[in-house]
Amino acid sequence: MVIERSQLFIGGEWLAPASGDTFEVHSPHDQSLVAVVPKASNADADAALQAARAALDAPWSTSSTPKERAELIRSLSAAIQARGNEVTSTVTAEMGTPAKFAMFGHLYAATTVLDGYAELVENYTFEEQRSGVISPTLIQKVPVGVAVGIVPWNVPMVIAAFKLGAALASGSPIVLKPSPEAPVSSFVLADALADIDLPPGLVSILPGDADLGRHLVSHPLVDKVSFTGSTAAGRSVGATCGELLKRCTLELGGKSAGIVLDDADLATTVPQLLDAGLQNNGQVCAAQTRLLVPRSRHAEIVDAFADHMRSLAVGNPADPSTDIGPLVAERQRERVEGYIKAGVDEGAKLVVGGGRPSDLDSGWYVEPTLFDDVDNQSRIAREEIFGPVLAVVPYDDDDHAVALANDSDFGLSGSVWTSDADRGVAVASRVRTGLCAINSGLIVDPKSPFGGFKASGIGREMGPEGLSAFLETRTVVLPPG
Ligand code: NAD
Repeated sequence: MVIERSQLFIGGEWLAPASGDTFEVHSPHDQSLVAVVPKASNADADAALQAARAALDAPWSTSSTPKERAELIRSLSAAIQARGNEVTSTVTAEMGTPAKFAMFGHLYAATTVLDGYAELVENYTFEEQRSGVISPTLIQKVPVGVAVGIVPWNVPMVIAAFKLGAALASGSPIVLKPSPEAPVSSFVLADALADIDLPPGLVSILPGDADLGRHLVSHPLVDKVSFTGSTAAGRSVGATCGELLKRCTLELGGKSAGIVLDDADLATTVPQLLDAGLQNNGQVCAAQTRLLVPRSRHAEIVDAFADHMRSLAVGNPADPSTDIGPLVAERQRERVEGYIKAGVDEGAKLVVGGGRPSDLDSGWYVEPTLFDDVDNQSRIAREEIFGPVLAVVPYDDDDHAVALANDSDFGLSGSVWTSDADRGVAVASRVRTGLCAINSGLIVDPKSPFGGFKASGIGREMGPEGLSAFLETRTVVLPPG
């Protein structure tokens, strides 16, 4: 059944779009038509931003209590949970995420992020008195203003939750812009928002293309931009925000390293680390795509990786047994295949995959692919591929592993695998990324700050740091004496 929507969620209401333009979303599995949804225009954006600006002066933004904000966020989390099957089937249909992963990686992750913000807002210090120089001062944390959240296609519900949770917790109205590749789940999110007691003007959801994104980012009514997407687009968004002095958070690409130390237990390391590299069909910013392995155990570890990768089920993402589904679009498959060719041309050793699955004659599939003996200077070790392609880079000792992990333009995530937790912490503490996990495939912790060093971005989402990014700080100097 083709999903058809005709209205846009603007300022908390379902309204007719200003133009008749639509997005057609086709299945990455078999190219069948999944949905036809409205494409938002600049006029829709202007209406949404006017509503948001009015909301900024309304009681929710000016005087709601942390408890009220927490309750609203919890009610949204519950409304999304109540539509859980719709959320998971929609992301599977629109961008090919395996059903097996959708439940945890899209639904649970999104509601956990919101629940984290609800807990946080109840415990956050929004106002404190300090001594000052001549008289006491009151330090107040107030909403940053009208926010825009720009969302990529790969985990649309989760990234929307990053931005929505912080906006609602801070009291800032927000306009979300989902991407053209995966706009359908944003309508399920809007349905959940319509289910709750949402104050007028507070949230709008406008699926649109990059031009709409540019319009929103440069709009005079916007105070804050929270962007998640590619590093190239992030540079452009950051430049505009710099020019216009808008507050800006950039969550960008990655090329994260999973460091397997020489004492790692392979039985637990291999499945978890490979999942951290291949989940969501390898289309995750924080994916662990460089596998750093000690030369002393190189052959044994690569054999274990290869055996596991060969055992993965590739196919229809709606099948609950599927591990790896199709890439989101034909363009994405061309990109990934270009990198596989680059890996071969640059002399890396192709161990597993490298082609299209022979038993699937439609869909944007690429075999899970493992390269060994990859030079850390080569393109497949340095550039974000965004597909199920992993690169093994051998190292000599722990210092060499840290140096290789840090020899990257990116700095988003990473992991260390060891049977010695202290050694793991020591190594992780030297890795220059926004997150580094020990013996865990958790590439993002929904209650802790997440964001990048270097070209992986600027700023943090989630945790108190993520909430702070949606707040301005005001000092009120109290009367002397
Ligand atoms: P993209 O940069 O092409 O697009 C992301 C979003 O930005 C889309 O909504 C798009 O329409 C919009 N956009 C593009 N150019 C814009 C511009 N100049 N101004 C305003 N908006 C613009 O990225 P994508 O292909 O949708 O997503 C994949 C990328 O996102 C990968 O690089 C991935 O690493 C990154 N990502 C990062 C994180 C993170 O938290 N660091 C999370 C998920 C995805």
